[in-house]
Amino acid sequence: HIYLDNNATTPLCKEAYDAMQPYWLESFGNPNSLHNTGRIAHRALAQSMNKIYTLLHASDYDDIILTSGATEANNTVLMSTYYQFIHTGKKKRILSTQVEHPSVAHTLEFLESLGAVIEFIPVNEQGLTTPEMLRSMMDDDVALVSVMWANNETGLVFPVHELAAVAHEFGALFHSDGVQAIGKLPVDLHASGVDFFTFSAHKFHGPKGIGGLFIKAKTPLTPLLHGGSQMGGRRSGTVAVPLIVGMSAALEVAVKNLDKNMAHMSYLRDKLEESISNLPDITIVGKDSPRTPNTSLVSFKGVEGEAFLWDLNEHGIAASTGSACSSADLQANPTFRAMKISADLEHTGIRFSLSRYTTEQDIEETIQAIKSSVSRLREISIVY
Ligand code: PLP
Repeated sequence: HIYLDNNATTPLCKEAYDAMQPYWLESFGNPNSLHNTGRIAHRALAQSMNKIYTLLHASDYDDIILTSGATEANNTVLMSTYYQFIHTGKKKRILSTQVEHPSVAHTLEFLESLGAVIEFIPVNEQGLTTPEMLRSMMDDDVALVSVMWANNETGLVFPVHELAAVAHEFGALFHSDGVQAIGKLPVDLHASGVDFFTFSAHKFHGPKGIGGLFIKAKTPLTPLLHGGSQMGGRRSGTVAVPLIVGMSAALEVAVKNLDKNMAHMSYLRDKLEESISNLPDITIVGKDSPRTPNTSLVSFKGVEGEAFLWDLNEHGIAASTGSACSSADLQANPTFRAMKISADLEHTGIRFSLSRYTTEQDIEETIQAIKSSVSRLREISIVY
């Protein structure tokens, strides 16, 4: 079995699995309890939080709240923006891109139904949004600019640092969904200048159901979840200690070996792309733009994405159609549309996303499978 769908989720690493073990059966306490069982859990929570702050380069004045994942973190930022600025009549507009994950895109649609003005900064034909494009849309009525750090479908990396600076020039806050950045790109939250940053453990070999939201020092936030005032009142709910211990262990491994892992993934990704680049009528999306080292979105003209995926699965290869974590829905790829990639390629994108565990043999077998599958599917295609 060859797993090349790591942008959807990654296998748990052994380090995270081992680190979590004591916190299921023995040290199961609630970190808010004052007895010894609670104190042990509290200590584990504090150590894990310290690690996360250090590894992501947050300062002690910044806040990191732990959430059930990136979907909750993205909802928290966007709903808070609504309560803080739109509902109170202070500002009206939120700017974002057309290639955000549904946890941002659909939340923005909801805010639009509540009266927020949602506008999209265009992406150019390289799939990127430039600081100039953002500047031309800014005024002091913009409450928040939300632009992902790296795109889950194409791997394209946005110039978050420069975009955040433009947002600040006009007094707006800046949020970045950084889910696809951790473990694939260097992330220094302090240097990046972002006010909010979203992350999710299961995308960097941590457990599912845990993630977080970075909030820069002194940035106002209305909580999404009200209750027992955990996380300094910014995110209520009993803290999932084993998951947090697992997330911090996974983050440590991901960050400490980052250079080596980036080199490993980009070597294999480039090998995959080079080996198939001589096939006729293929498009590698964003090939010459900055991309995460693990992602390749390739379109094979005349080869329908779902059929291709099914065929690869028969070869024991797990990949994905372009549409992110929701390849079950058959909508045309929004990134393709935003990048003005011709309509006949819209349903043909296949995403290969590697991890540090992908081997050279995995890639060699995948190359063979792609070649035989593409020629067979094209032979039986009525459009090719
Ligand atoms: N944002 C991006 C860019 C993603 O790729 C994903 C993947 O599912 C999410 C958000 C949602 O993350 P979670 O599964 O932690 O809710």
